[in-house]
Amino acid sequence: MTIKEQILQLRDELNKHNYNYYVLDNPTISDFDFDTKLKQLQELEASYPEFFDANSPTQRVGGEITKNFETLIHEQRMYSLDNSYSKEDLLEWETRIKKLVDGELQFTCELKYDGASISLTYENGNLIKAVTRGDGVQGDNVTANVKTIKSVPLQLKGDFPEKFDIRGEIVLPWEGFNKMNEERIEIGEEPYRNPRNTASGSLKLQDSSEVAKRPLECLLYSIVGNNLNINTQFESLEKAHAWGFKVPNAAKLVNSIDQVFEFINYWDEHRHHLPYETDGVVVKVNNLQQQEELGFTAKAPRWAIAYKFKAEQVSTRLNEITYQVGRTGAITPVANLEPVELAGTTVKRASLHNADQIEKLDIRVGDEVFVEKGGEIIPKIIAVDLSKRPENSQPTKYITHCPECETELVRTEGEAQHYCPNYNGCKPQIIGRIQHFISRKAMDIEGLGGETVALLVHEGLIHNYSDLYELTKEQVIPLERMAEKSAENLIKGIELSKTVPFERVLFALGIRFVGETVAKKLANHYKNIDALIQATHDDLIHVDEIGVKIAESVIDFFSSELNKDMINRLRGFGVQLEISAEKLANQTNKLDGNIFVVSGVFHIVSRDELKKLIEDNGGKVSSSISGKTSYIIAGDNMGPSKKEKAEKLKISIITEQDFLRMIQY
Ligand code: AMP
Ligand code: ZN
Repeated sequence: MTIKEQILQLRDELNKHNYNYYVLDNPTISDFDFDTKLKQLQELEASYPEFFDANSPTQRVGGEITKNFETLIHEQRMYSLDNSYSKEDLLEWETRIKKLVDGELQFTCELKYDGASISLTYENGNLIKAVTRGDGVQGDNVTANVKTIKSVPLQLKGDFPEKFDIRGEIVLPWEGFNKMNEERIEIGEEPYRNPRNTASGSLKLQDSSEVAKRPLECLLYSIVGNNLNINTQFESLEKAHAWGFKVPNAAKLVNSIDQVFEFINYWDEHRHHLPYETDGVVVKVNNLQQQEELGFTAKAPRWAIAYKFKAEQVSTRLNEITYQVGRTGAITPVANLEPVELAGTTVKRASLHNADQIEKLDIRVGDEVFVEKGGEIIPKIIAVDLSKRPENSQPTKYITHCPECETELVRTEGEAQHYCPNYNGCKPQIIGRIQHFISRKAMDIEGLGGETVALLVHEGLIHNYSDLYELTKEQVIPLERMAEKSAENLIKGIELSKTVPFERVLFALGIRFVGETVAKKLANHYKNIDALIQATHDDLIHVDEIGVKIAESVIDFFSSELNKDMINRLRGFGVQLEISAEKLANQTNKLDGNIFVVSGVFHIVSRDELKKLIEDNGGKVSSSISGKTSYIIAGDNMGPSKKEKAEKLKISIITEQDFLRMIQY
């Protein structure tokens, strides 16, 4: 098989596996085997750039940076939809259109997905561009970002038209949304409010490799173009499915508004089990000939109508507003409600978010309020029933002091949240920080749980995470629900955490904005905590992927004497504050200042190992040859165009063996 054939075959296989996994939800290959094939293809493409293809499955990992999104005009306008809220509305709509067209009416019923609308253009089966709806006439070119969404086919199959646009919705399923939020809360960032805004925000990220990490999906429902040889909306869905698109399978073809209503009633109840958010049903005249006769108003098609599900809403009394203090000191006001049934659960509390929200609602204790469960997971108070406001009611005064430690709260310009600045003396902050310290991804202390941490703090046995290492079995045994055995396990777990590697210790310290990945970066760059403590703002922002916000937070953390003290105590107890000798032994600065390009297939070490060796020894890896390249490490079958370029720029080409000698491997 020629190289080109190998590449084409791998692309074909990977496209099929992507389709099985992301469109059909039916994987037929292990993740490991998939990754191996993807790596093979990446290596071949890197060595043979002449076979580059913008729609190769390797392009899904992203990496393209878009500073300003180009505006593109939609060849055919993207319309909005008229809304309806009752069966009467729908019957009226039917009567209206019956007057305008001849023949029997059939309808397709589809779910209305709550995400970001998108229009994809395909030519000869290849994805050419992806454009947001924008104002309907023109939108933003977000092709690089959309390519990273695995359910968007880069290459179609079957009998597709030469050129067409297909429209649909990019959604973020609940599961992925919740996971993203867990990670944000972990590092002290505000959680995202709802999946829809997060999905449309994702499309406008500048770095497409960031988009690739988000579990977005693309559901398609409408084909537009000329001479498509399609007669009905339902047929469009079937065809789109056959060409490889992810088409929602809830769509149904029906013959009357009564049947439309059956569909609506069914999904009003069952939509809560769908993996993503829906806010209604879209009813469309099935026959495309009839659609054409009906045409459009200035804003929306006459042949379609959206039915909006009623957000489930109840009214209840606000008994009290309490204030919670988080691990970072952020204050969240909470509405304590008279318990009430809503969407199958009992609601007692609802978040009021911040002082502005309270002011906006003008919500007061004793008020009758409307609570809704909409696009967000947590119930939300949407309004006050002013007709029921008690006469003597007083406006809510936001607290000025921390409910836990009575310190005066601060609010930084431009931030929505108030904060308790008593970092070292405020109990919920102390407890939250220690709970983070012991958590699974941090020190992973077995035998110690979050509740025990709270108990230890309340009993005055510990005041910070360093104190954990001085606990004795005798101190712990008298605690509630502790026995000899569990006390022993707790002490053993703490002891064992002394072997946890530096990068995880750094994460465990709970420095704001320093999540797992950032901690790893900093640990590998600075090698030990002292170097990190000494780093200046300028040093920090020059580390790969470290921005101003993180740099400031790191400096701030280490400028506290108390924090430095705690770190010294951790050091005394034997906690890992530098990367391990073994890891360090493999690192040198022999290659400092040298930039390498790796090309071809290798025998002694793999391509990935080669790259790691370069970086571990202080060198840099680049993917393309330029005047700045120091060496090219050439394996078998190095691409001829690379070779030519290297020769022209007089860059030394070395073998795998030469390189290994260079670092005395
Ligand atoms: P609206 O934004 O309320 O005017 O509703 C119109 C939007 O609903 C369209 O722009 C689409 O993005 C979205 N939508 C979601 N699901 C569908 C569907 N099945 N058919 C048509 N539009 C849909
Ligand atoms: Zn406080």
